[in-house]
Amino acid sequence: MKFPKIPIYRPNLQGNEQNYVQECLTTSWISSKGPFIEKFEHKFAEYVGAEHATSVSNGTVALHLALLALEIGVGDEVLVPSLTYIASVNAIKFVGATPVFVDSLLDTWQMDPADIARKITPNSRAIMAVHLYGYPCDMKSITNIAKNFKLALIEDCAEAIGTFFDKKHVGVFGDVATFSFYGNKTITTGEGGMVVASNKKIIDTIYHLKNQGVSQEREYWHDVVGYNYRMTNIQAAIGLAQLERVEKFLTRKRELASLYSKLLSHLGMQLPKRDDGNLSSYWMISILVDSPDMRNELRIFLRTKGIETRPFFAPAHSMPMYKSLDRGDCQRAVFLSERGINLPSYPDLEDHAITEICSFIEEFICYAMQPKNLQRITKSNKLFA
Ligand SMILES: *Cc1c(COP(=O)(O)O)cnc(C)c1O
Repeated sequence: MKFPKIPIYRPNLQGNEQNYVQECLTTSWISSKGPFIEKFEHKFAEYVGAEHATSVSNGTVALHLALLALEIGVGDEVLVPSLTYIASVNAIKFVGATPVFVDSLLDTWQMDPADIARKITPNSRAIMAVHLYGYPCDMKSITNIAKNFKLALIEDCAEAIGTFFDKKHVGVFGDVATFSFYGNKTITTGEGGMVVASNKKIIDTIYHLKNQGVSQEREYWHDVVGYNYRMTNIQAAIGLAQLERVEKFLTRKRELASLYSKLLSHLGMQLPKRDDGNLSSYWMISILVDSPDMRNELRIFLRTKGIETRPFFAPAHSMPMYKSLDRGDCQRAVFLSERGINLPSYPDLEDHAITEICSFIEEFICYAMQPKNLQRITKSNKLFA
């Protein structure tokens, strides 16, 4: 399915993106200097309610720099959910630290605070909280644990622009937080990322490191091993135009979620639990089905109808490079990973498309629930093997 009728995601670039990019070309500020960079950083910090922000080339290096700035390294353990995008875990490896995998909660799909507490050792240095698919982690419990055990707290907010916990935008609960502007994220710069913090020293360190460790006092003098992790003015131009319409995107995504929810609830499919004061960005509106086989079959069925879906992330502990760290204690992450489906979730998706998607899901579930088909589905699991 190269060009599905309904893709899983498509960014809306119909605002000031063209004008701003044209301005970069006209003025020839196309590299990592130029007026859009500071403007975007400033507006972004304001939107999130963070004190300081610095832009970077993607969400993965944002995490790398966050860990470096907190001086996490060899011998340190970082608690991270197994059910996340692989970049969260890889960044921990980049700095030589060891990821310790935390299991998920079945009702919110987020990392389980009780499991964090259980897995703390004398080597624990930090918690990396990932707000998965746009729902907030339980930041009340997690900040308490971080405080009690004197652990640093990093929030991976790549999927969580527009996510609120206890009426506060995520990204302000820990020491440092990171965002991604990849093409399918809620706002995009093509590739891009941001780091925010309330402590200016952290942001200064990150600025220094993303900028080849160049000295402020002396030209072409570098006092640490740095990186080139900078964002370009063109990326920032697109980002600024996107940010101008972020509320529009989020409002529409919340409408999509409530329509999906309304049309699917009678099938026993509910979106995750969300407490009062919390708000999801609904980055990827997702459902769980009864069994792994049914999940795979439903995805095939929807694909034949021209509807693109995605499976949940595979738990990081099951990937080859992290298998040696698997202690078999993230079974709820496995459960969710095998049953979750991300549905088309982009702001330009129209109501009638959702009605169509949901009626296909209903058709499949009714068909699948007949005993003879259930048996067949169980056998056909090999399709995805
Ligand atoms: C997208 C994403 C990242 C990485 O961002 P990139 O910009 O693609 O490097 C990190 N963590 C999570 C949870 C993500 O979804």
